[in-house]
Amino acid sequence: MTTRNHCLALDAQDPLAPLRNQFALPDGVIYLDGNSLGARPVAALQRAQQVIAEEWGNGLIRSWNTAGWRDLSQRLGDRLARLIGADANEVVITDTTSINLFKVLSAALRVQALKAPQRRVIVSESSNFPTDLYIAEGLTEMLQQGYSLRLVDSPEELPRAIGEDTAVVMLTHVNYKTGYMHDMQAVTALTHECGALSLWDLAHSAGAVPVDLKQAGADYAIGCTYKYLNGGPGSQAFAWVSPALCDLVKQPLSGWFGHARQFDMEAQYRPSSGIARYLCGTQPITSLAMVECGLEIFEQTDMASLRRKSLALTDLFIELVEQRCAAHGLKLVTPREHDKRGSHVSFEHPEGYAVIQALIARGVIGDYREPRIMRFGFTPLYTRFSEVWDAVQTLGEILDEKTWAQPQFQIRHSVT
Ligand SMILES: *Cc1c(COP(=O)(O)O)cnc(C)c1O
Repeated sequence: MTTRNHCLALDAQDPLAPLRNQFALPDGVIYLDGNSLGARPVAALQRAQQVIAEEWGNGLIRSWNTAGWRDLSQRLGDRLARLIGADANEVVITDTTSINLFKVLSAALRVQALKAPQRRVIVSESSNFPTDLYIAEGLTEMLQQGYSLRLVDSPEELPRAIGEDTAVVMLTHVNYKTGYMHDMQAVTALTHECGALSLWDLAHSAGAVPVDLKQAGADYAIGCTYKYLNGGPGSQAFAWVSPALCDLVKQPLSGWFGHARQFDMEAQYRPSSGIARYLCGTQPITSLAMVECGLEIFEQTDMASLRRKSLALTDLFIELVEQRCAAHGLKLVTPREHDKRGSHVSFEHPEGYAVIQALIARGVIGDYREPRIMRFGFTPLYTRFSEVWDAVQTLGEILDEKTWAQPQFQIRHSVT
């Protein structure tokens, strides 16, 4: 049986343990929700002060040139690139994941319209993150002309769903709810064999699991920076397009930041070459600047080391929950196989929502997703093995004592 001392020993041997000092985590909190909103890098406070007092306050409009605001989306994209197997000059950090999805999905359909106009179906999963499905739905409704969305209920159904009518296969690499991870290389190969383009949402992958877009042969990718990348609440998202496709078509949100010569003020849109055409308008710089603080921490380690620790943390959590909470009928919905697991673990419980509220009241922060799913994110940059132990003990006590049945834990908040 694993003991708390064993977990403390794992912390003592953990080569990544010192990185936790670069995060400002409150005392008395075990934070298992970095997959939803990453913790604050210590450096972010000083950076915010610099941006607001110096760059905005003193620099004023000059800072677009002197503080590098104009190129910030691309400079940060260059630094993020290696985390997703892309090269410098291929990534921008801008807008939201939802908006970037609209841009790249539209572009993918335009590419197909040039070479295979009969392909008008977007294939995805019914379990994909809702905003991805909503954006695809909105786009097909806007385009009309026979464009449609086809949803499969499990990854096994993908081979049969992708066919001669398929334009794009749009998937989230790590499922937000179950933690299931697709084999990016195999699914991309299947997609290409069928003549379709592959689009990956890396919201729960970037900074969480190793990703190699170029080796997988992917065509488009998007993802968040406020989750595992610790960019801050609502920080801008990223977009990547394969260089082979990037200059073939314009994306439809053709704002002036994506123009080849923004300050020529031409009446007609001419796209920049390369990924810069995926920029649209002026970004909230105070938010964008924070992304750098998260990326700087990743530059002190590598995804292979992070993956090793992530799997050790999720293995430990599963093992301890199954030991300590065996009497309570929790159902593991996350794959046990390492190659199918992201960096969060989900268990089903009929009172999942109330259990999570009771945990939060005791300083263990996870979250809840309909229906019945209790979700726990493990961030190898700052989660300790002993915290996994302590979190499971608290969960066990709440289940043993039925603390979750107290009325205050039944109240539904607007964000779960
Ligand atoms: C978190 C998440 C998003 C969020 O999109 P926003 O536009 O940032 O709100 C989108 N897709 C997936 C798969 C996510 O997990």
